[in-house]
Amino acid sequence: MILGDYHTHTVFSHGKNKIEDNVASAVKVGLKEVAITDHGLRHVAFGMRPCDIFKMRKIIDKTQEETPEVKILFGVEANIYTSDGDIDLKPCQMENFDVIIAGFHKIVWPRSPKDMVNFFWRAQWSENFGYSKNTVQKFTDAYVKAIKSGNIDVITHLNYGMKTDVKQVAQAAKDYGVFIELNGKRVSMTDEEILTVQDIGAKFIVNSDAHSCGRVGEISVPTAVIERLDLNRDNIVNWDKLPEFKRRKK
Ligand SMILES: [Zn+2]
Ligand SMILES: [Zn+2]
Repeated sequence: MILGDYHTHTVFSHGKNKIEDNVASAVKVGLKEVAITDHGLRHVAFGMRPCDIFKMRKIIDKTQEETPEVKILFGVEANIYTSDGDIDLKPCQMENFDVIIAGFHKIVWPRSPKDMVNFFWRAQWSENFGYSKNTVQKFTDAYVKAIKSGNIDVITHLNYGMKTDVKQVAQAAKDYGVFIELNGKRVSMTDEEILTVQDIGAKFIVNSDAHSCGRVGEISVPTAVIERLDLNRDNIVNWDKLPEFKRRKK
C-alpha cells in the first residue's frame, strides 16, 4: 500500500472539496503524507490564481498545526505547455511549493500562437488521426526538457493526451531523479512501456489524482496494473515507504 498520496485536487482548481477535507480523508485512510496539487496557473477556468498560492499556504500551515498525524505538502500540478518543456510557473512562484508535479493537459492557455499550433493542436490532431514519428519525438523532447530543467519532481499520467517515447522520458527521469506517476484515474502507458520504465530503472510513484476527498488514497486502477505486471515494489517510491523529493532537500 502507499504511505503518501502526492496528487490531490481541491476547490482551488476543480476538486469538489476543501484542503481540510482532503487532509481529513488522508488521516482516515491511514496515509502519512498528502500533497495538495491543484492545477497550474494557465489551466483554462480551473487553474490556480497567483494569489491562491499564498492563501493555500496559509490554510495548509493552519491545517498542519491542527493535524500533526499527517504531513501536508503544498504542491501544484503544473502544465507542460510548450515544445521547450516549459511549465506554467515563474521561478519566484516555484519557490513556494514543497513538490511540483507536471503533465500535459489539453485545456491550457498557450504561450504563443506557435505553441498553440505546434503543441496543443498537434496533440489533438494526433490523438484523433494518429501520431507520426516526428510528432512523438517533438513531444518526447518537450518532456525530456521539462525533466532536465530540474524544476519538477513527478511526471503525471505520462502519455495521456500526448504520446511520447517512454524509453527516452524514462531515461531522463532516471538521470534527473524525477518520478513517473501511475495515476489513480488512468494509466495511459502500455504494459510494454511500463515495463520499459522499470527496466531502465526510473522510479514510479502511485497517486490517486483525487478530485474529491473520498478518493484520496484511492489507487485501485494502478494497483491492478502493478499486480498484473508484478512490478517491483521497491521501484515505487511511496509503496510501504515515503519518497524523497529533490525540492524538499533544499
Ligand atoms: Zn492531470
Ligand atoms: Zn490531476
